[in-house]
Amino acid sequence: MTLRIRASEEEGQRLFWFEAPSCDLSGVVAIDSLALGPAAGGCRFWRYDDAAGMQADARRLARGMSYKNAMAGLPLGGGKSVVQRPQHPFDRAALFRAFGQVLNALKGEYLAAEDVGTTPRDMEIVRSVSPHVFGLPAKDALAGGDPSPWTALGVFLSIEHVLSRNGLPLAGSRIAVQGLGNVGADLCRKLHARGAVLVVADVHDQAIAHLCADVPAEVASPDAIHRSRVDVFAPCALGGGLNSKTIPEISARFVVGAANNQLASPWDEALLHSRGILYAPDYVVNAGGIINVAAEYLGSAQGEVLARVRRIPERLSAVLDRAEATGRPPSHIADSMARDLIASAAAPANRTPIDESAARSI
Ligand code: NAD
Repeated sequence: MTLRIRASEEEGQRLFWFEAPSCDLSGVVAIDSLALGPAAGGCRFWRYDDAAGMQADARRLARGMSYKNAMAGLPLGGGKSVVQRPQHPFDRAALFRAFGQVLNALKGEYLAAEDVGTTPRDMEIVRSVSPHVFGLPAKDALAGGDPSPWTALGVFLSIEHVLSRNGLPLAGSRIAVQGLGNVGADLCRKLHARGAVLVVADVHDQAIAHLCADVPAEVASPDAIHRSRVDVFAPCALGGGLNSKTIPEISARFVVGAANNQLASPWDEALLHSRGILYAPDYVVNAGGIINVAAEYLGSAQGEVLARVRRIPERLSAVLDRAEATGRPPSHIADSMARDLIASAAAPANRTPIDESAARSI
């Protein structure tokens, strides 16, 4: 197999473009920050139109990971990988083994885990060639396994917190959940168990049928769920759902969800703010999964994960308190808190050069 890696830099972020044509592998790793530790973030396996789209997604997601890891108090920097999903039939195991060689070439500066389009099984394949991957099945009493239930728990606790600080009980509150995948479906079950009334949507009928088999919910169409008459809108599908078209139509007072990069542009938070809609910054509330991944990386006990995820509402509360005190939107506050945490950490002594030998046949 021939693996080629090309490094470049964009506005302080390092990019590593990789390609192993015989394994149908191509993509990019973006490293945003190493100030707090190795750059950690998921591996997204998605069909992109072009390299510019891949780069934009990887860079945006890597910055989000820096902020998320800092705000969650983790000893990790921020990074993300995006891998182009081939259009033709391909050997998935060979592709992810080749991706493992990319991680080896980066010598642990970037740590991968699951993201949209990848599974714990993919990560096990990556682990067969590289130690720089997490989100693997848990062993003994140590942390590990699917991060999604932890993400769902953090979002659930955040919704409960936002309602309660506004004097509303969770039981009887109406909550619209957009996207019934690994996180969204689990979140619905937790909300239903505590008496919330659900409105749900997904682009896949199967996902709706699966949830509604045991959880009562009103079903909305995917392009109208944000307009539902609810107390909380929880975006749990893909990013960019909060934009100049959808925000004027949202009737919920609170937006609290799992999706990464919910705001399509930095101006959209101001738009939400001007409409009096409280937006809980996505990377503060959806940190449960990376908290579990970090615990696996650090070799912590599974029990520690619960205690750390339970602290998410405390961090959200600090952001919302400051937002209320200053009149600034919560995501501006969270961004500046995260930047301060990153800036106050010592700069890494040495940047490990990439393994040039990776650019030959292996
Ligand atoms: P997933 O792929 O399992 O589920 C996403 C669901 O959204 C799918 O059922 C899909 O059909 C649905 N969907 C896609 N577009 C939609 C649309 N326009 N309207 C309605 N439904 C739509 O992903 P997941 O692991 O549940 O993650 C959900 C979101 O949370 C993603 O943005 C992800 O980046 C973010 N997130 C996930 C984790 C985690 O631990 N899994 C951690 C942090 C953030």
